[in-house]
Amino acid sequence: MSKLKIEIITAERVVLQDEVDMVVAPGIDGQLGILPHHVPLLTSLQLGELRLKKGSEEISLAITGGFLEVQPDRVVVLADAAEREEEIDVARAEQAKKRAEERLSFRTGEMDLARADVSLARSLMRLKIAEKRRRKKG
Ligand code: ATP
Repeated sequence: MSKLKIEIITAERVVLQDEVDMVVAPGIDGQLGILPHHVPLLTSLQLGELRLKKGSEEISLAITGGFLEVQPDRVVVLADAAEREEEIDVARAEQAKKRAEERLSFRTGEMDLARADVSLARSLMRLKIAEKRRRKKG
């Protein structure tokens, strides 16, 4: 069966390079499933879980948004921030969540509220992926 080469990069590092069967990405308009020989595509991604199917294995990553480029046998994700599931630091995400919740409860300026909101969404998404991994591993 043909495979898709995937490369997930940020401005700082190569997060993952692999060959997979399918990519499911958090597209700006909803989940986007990409199989080999997909038509070329360039689109934005939103905050969410990026899943890679590789045989019976499923690899999950947290991404905070970015761009996705699809070529027939290759997918490139340029992410704002990305962590493989095993890289997620749960204590750090818990702290970020707590900070964001505190800022939201103090209700300061509009700008701060919007920032706290997205910060909360990032931490909740990281915690969800870390929890899923914990359950998967038993
Ligand atoms: P924090 O307040 O803890 O920095 P944040 O949501 O503001 O969280 P980002 O701006 O999304 O952080 O990311 C900054 C960098 O830190 C990125 O390289 C990202 O991959 C990494 N990062 C953020 N939170 C975590 C985490 N819980 N575990 C592992 N890496 C993380």
